[in-house]
Amino acid sequence: MDFAFTAEQEKFRQEVRTFLDAELPPDWVGYLGGTTGDHVVDRGEGWQVFQDIAGKLGKKGWLSLCWPREYGGQARSYVDYLIFAEEIARRGSPGYNPIAMKMLAPTLIDYGNEEQKQQHLKPIARGERFWCEGLSEPEAGSDLASLQTKAVKDNGHFIINGQKTWSTLANHSDWCFMLARSDPNSQRYKGLSFLLVDLSTPGVTVSPIKNLAGESSFCEIFFEDARIPGENLVSKESEGWPVAQALLAHERTSIEFVAMVQSLIEETIKYLKANPGIAPASARDSLARLAIEAEIGRLLNYRVAWQHDQGVATDLYASIAKLYSTELFKRAASAAMHLIGLYGQLDKKETIAPLSGWIEHMYLVSFGATIAAGTSEIQKNIIALRGLSLPKG
Ligand SMILES: Cc1cc2nc3c(=O)[nH]c(=O)nc-3n(C[C@H](O)[C@H](O)[C@H](O)COP(=O)(O)OP(=O)(O)OC[C@H]3O[C@@H](n4cnc5c(N)ncnc54)[C@H](O)[C@@H]3O)c2cc1C
Repeated sequence: MDFAFTAEQEKFRQEVRTFLDAELPPDWVGYLGGTTGDHVVDRGEGWQVFQDIAGKLGKKGWLSLCWPREYGGQARSYVDYLIFAEEIARRGSPGYNPIAMKMLAPTLIDYGNEEQKQQHLKPIARGERFWCEGLSEPEAGSDLASLQTKAVKDNGHFIINGQKTWSTLANHSDWCFMLARSDPNSQRYKGLSFLLVDLSTPGVTVSPIKNLAGESSFCEIFFEDARIPGENLVSKESEGWPVAQALLAHERTSIEFVAMVQSLIEETIKYLKANPGIAPASARDSLARLAIEAEIGRLLNYRVAWQHDQGVATDLYASIAKLYSTELFKRAASAAMHLIGLYGQLDKKETIAPLSGWIEHMYLVSFGATIAAGTSEIQKNIIALRGLSLPKG
């Protein structure tokens, strides 16, 4: 078994690092570690910085690394993509919209028709079109199949009525993909359609929600008689569930969270060295433990990437990686807060906050990580049922 990256992959990792050194704004040190860059958009120039870097990443061809060439892709491996995502998250770089690049694009490549691929993939690859995910509803999260937003067929269109919630970056997105119930007589998984919605469509309203860290990183989306062209249906009418399942398996690779754990370990060690005497006796034990766990997290995620490149089903192992990586992120943020001491609780508005308030920020956002993309309990259910073949109920 060979755990090493190839010489080209090592070179590529270095190339991404060099690019980020050159392109990130000089004050970026205060924004280390993030998965979608959503924590930067509330900042004055945050969204502009996000878009500028997205354009540059697009020019490099890094927003479409493992897609086929005919859709603007680079036909590289999924492992290459993970290297890119790991480096981006380690620096908390903006410009990377995993909702479009990691989730929607591979789903469209597998399930979309030719017109949909031509219309949507190239703008994502260029970093020009931003997407959000419209799956959760106020009464349908873990039990997604109970969703109630309706899509009624009318003269070649779908009329959408209902509400989505927790939609990350919807306030900055151009388009949204969603599941809606197109067969009113259907039960649960049956009768759901997967639709692509231009958010500027009349009848669509986006309303930001403040998260635990006080930022507008996710939103509600309201649909009131919104008319969506029939050609925006992906796959067949009322057969959207397998499309959403494929999309969720892509969503659950979680190297970004492990990268943030590595940043947390590195920055905590730097801070403790610069401030001798503040480290509690438990510091060595906690940091050594976290360093081992971060290695385990990396291996779990790179295994999913390797399986992907071998054409093996990844859903079970993606759930294992997601569960492990996000729970580890939560433990690491809590440990860093503890090790840095009481000042670690100060936020970025306080000039004396250690690491520009980054520890406090990581601690607050770490809770959402174990909820988004399916909670830890749901991942355990998947592992128990699909991996361990335990009976339901
Ligand atoms: C930071 C963040 C970003 C998000 N971004 C998006 C987004 O972009 N788009 C989107 O559509 N959604 C998004 N979500 C929503 C997310 O997918 C849901 O919050 C999640 O699926 C849980 O659903 P819920 O909040 O309705 O909780 P519930 O489903 O009501 O769950 C409540 C609790 O019950 C537990 N539970 C529920 N069912 C079971 C079960 N069968 N077995 C054991 N325990 C169970 C859950 O684990 C949880 O602890 C985001 C959420 C967060 C926190």
